[in-house]
Order: sequence, then structure tokens, then C-alpha cells
Amino acid sequence: MKGLVALTKALADGATSSVETTKALLQKPDLVGAFLLRDDAGALAAAKASDERRARGAALGPLDGVSVALKDNILTEGVVTTAGSKLLAGFVPPYDATVTTRLKAAGAVLLGKTNLDEFGMGSSTENSAFQQTKNPFDLTRTPGGSSGGSAAAVAAGLCAGALGTDTGGSIRQPAAFTGLVGLKPTYGRVSRAGVVAYASSLDQVGPLARSVEDVALLLEAIEGFDAADSTSSDVAKTAWREGLRSGVKGLRVGLPKELFVDGMDPEIDASVRAAARRLEALGAHVVELSLPHTKYALATYYVIAPCEASSNLGRYDGVRYGHRAKDVKALKDLYEKSRSEGLGPEVKRRIMLGTFALSAGYHDAYYVKAQQVRTLIRRDYEAAFASVDVVLSATSPVLPWRLGEKLDDPLAMYLMDVLTLPCNLAGLPGLSMPCGQSKAGLPIGLQLLGRPFDEATLLRAAHALEADLNLSLEPR
Ligand code: GLN
Repeated sequence: MKGLVALTKALADGATSSVETTKALLQKPDLVGAFLLRDDAGALAAAKASDERRARGAALGPLDGVSVALKDNILTEGVVTTAGSKLLAGFVPPYDATVTTRLKAAGAVLLGKTNLDEFGMGSSTENSAFQQTKNPFDLTRTPGGSSGGSAAAVAAGLCAGALGTDTGGSIRQPAAFTGLVGLKPTYGRVSRAGVVAYASSLDQVGPLARSVEDVALLLEAIEGFDAADSTSSDVAKTAWREGLRSGVKGLRVGLPKELFVDGMDPEIDASVRAAARRLEALGAHVVELSLPHTKYALATYYVIAPCEASSNLGRYDGVRYGHRAKDVKALKDLYEKSRSEGLGPEVKRRIMLGTFALSAGYHDAYYVKAQQVRTLIRRDYEAAFASVDVVLSATSPVLPWRLGEKLDDPLAMYLMDVLTLPCNLAGLPGLSMPCGQSKAGLPIGLQLLGRPFDEATLLRAAHALEADLNLSLEPR
């Protein structure tokens, strides 16, 4: 069993059953530390129900019987959801996230919950309070983050596809690090209801899978308006897979000089530029362009995201759910002790940064200023999309680094997001796909950004390039 589409076909042909494939996946040892929890009983029950539907000739969903994993900041009714935090250890959500409900309605078998940086804050999954996740291509290296568990699970063949969340690159960068396709949909395309909030104006849920078509299939299942998320957009649902094969003739591709940053790994630079030439050979027009405010994106993001996080995480007070400190007398002590004990160092750093930036006297200088710069960054992209259809760059400036290497240097870790976060600031759709491998065998990913709600063009361009490059990146 390889990808989602392949598995769907095998199930339809009767070559395998959902119970058979689900069992096989659950029995595979998780050597990369991808899963925080494997829901054996729930997955097998769902697989059995799917096989029965099929046997009865009942109506089937587009993902019927297919195994999918969820990042552990996506709520699952009755199944522990921790967001990678000790503060939520053992927390059993009373309801499903909208995306969880939609996957179930599509017939998917939910295999379990994958590891992440605590509350999505990080770029290596090392900020998880529970365990380390390893890159299946090299077990001494990071799978990226914060959706590193979802990426490692798919890349290691432990599930057919997975959902992650992306606030500043957390779907695309792990996809790049593990040889997968990952899509951050346009802000508003996929409901965030029931997803543990990090930075609400940036967060978006999206798929990670082995191929562009697999990603399109997952997107079809989870997208669409949801009254439970006030930022959900009421745009028509699309049959994403239909337009996939239309090719790239006449497609205008922009290479922004600011996204080919100093210090970028030369192997990545070469691989991305070679892919651009392939697109040209397939009939696209490739031009250089400028996004002049890109240099402010990192600073802007690392003001806005911590501000929103400091506000969102105020809800964890030890009163109704989550970690509750023992032996405290005053309410204030309950807050202080519960949070001190429950939250990890990176999360505390973000809460302090955000609280500072929002405090009286500094609010206008930091938060308001960052929002203004964010507008300028968005306008850069609006201007670019007047002359090109997609923007192409690398996904990450560097190859997957060694576990532990950047842990003592938060700023070095933040710098790793330089290519992915403008997409979130501008609310655009962004896709990462494999474009090569380093000499040492590590995957290299490129990023395609598109106009708001124009995922169709991204998927079409990615599909054409995927077919042309015909890579098969497999962990050793
Ligand atoms: N690495 C970025 C951060 O720590 C992005 C994380 C994400 O997209 N969730 O904020």
C-alpha cells in the first residue's frame, strides 16, 4: 500500500479490505516516534464498519476505509488530545473538530494522534512535552515541525495520509523534510473549529500525503464553510482532482529574489532552480520578481504569532480542564502554579513576548506596527499576482538538521521559517512538494504560493512537476 488514491482503488477492487490494511498499519512498529497515541480499537471498529458498508453495497465516502492520522492539536471526541503539552496530558475532548467530523463522514479510518511541538510552537517537533520524532530518512535528524509527527507517520509508511496545521510553515516544512506533499490552504478555506488555537489569524489545517493527488483528495474531504468558525469562508467546494492534469502551458511562474536568501543551502538552491527550468520546459513562463517587504516578514510574524498565542493560551488556568496544580490556596496561585508546571519553555517564552508586545505603552509600537507591515507584505503578493500565477521558492533554506542542534538557540530556530511564514501573513495557499534529494539522501522541497482561494493552480502546477520529475523518495 502506498498512497491514499492507490489504497482507495485497492479497496474498490477488493484487492484488500480496510480491516486488513488497518491491522497491518497498526502492527508496524513506530520507529520514528511519530504517534503520541494509536487508537487501535477505534481504528479497527471504523475499518470494520467500512468493510461492512462496502459489502452491503451502501453509499461510500471518498475516503472510505482509508487510514489517516491527525496532528494532536485536532480534537477527537473520546480520544486524548494533548497539543503536545503536559498541560493537556490526558485531556479527553467532549467533541470532534470539524475536520475530524468531516474525515469520519468521508469514511476515513482515524489511526491515531501524531506528535507536534507544544501548541504548534516550533520547527522541529522537539518542543513536544512527550517525545522526540525522528526523520525517517535519517534517524539522527528532525522531521521538521511543528507537524513533524504527521509527516514522519506518512513518510515512514505508518498511515496513508495525515492532517497537520500550519501557522508559519508547520505543514510545508515537515513535508519538505520528509519527501512529502503538504498543503496549507487559503486562510478560511478549512474550518479551525475544534483545533487547539495557537495564532488565530494565521492558523490553518491542511493535508500531508505522498502525492499531489492524495493531497487533493484529503482537501476535498475537509474543506468548506463551517458556521462554527467565524473566519470560515463561504466559497464553493471544488472537485480538486478534476483539473489536476491540465498542465502548465502558459502558466506564469515568479521567482522572488528575496526568497532566495543568503545562506541558503546550495544543494537546495540548485534543486529549486532546476525545477523552475523543468516548468519552463513544460511550457510555463518563468520570470524573476521582487517582494520588497519580505525582509520584515520574520520579525512581523514573531510579533503577531506570540501576541495571539499569549491571548489564546490565557484559557489554560487549571480551573475547568487541563493540568491543575495541587495544594494551592489562592486562585492566583492556582493559575500561576498550574501554568508554570504545565507549560514548556518555548511556550512560556512566546507568552512572555506576546504579553509584553500587547501591554499598555507597547501595543502600538509592536502589535499595531506589525499589523501594518503585514498589510504591506500582503500587498507585495497582490502586486506579484497581477503578473504571475504562482510564486516559486524553496520551502526551507536548509536541509533537515540534527536533533538537538538548534535547541539552545531559539532565534536560530525562528530563522528556519523565513520562507514559509509570508504565506500565512498574507493568507495565501501554499504547497510544498519534493523536488530532489541532497547528496546525503535528504529530501529537498520547493514551495508554490498562489492567489487566495486559487489552490487549483497550485495543485495543477505541482501535479505537472511531480509527473515530470518522477522522483521516488523512500526512506532507507
Ligand atoms: N515554526 C513556526 C512557529 O514556531 C511555525 C509553527 C507553525 O506553523 N505552527 O511559530
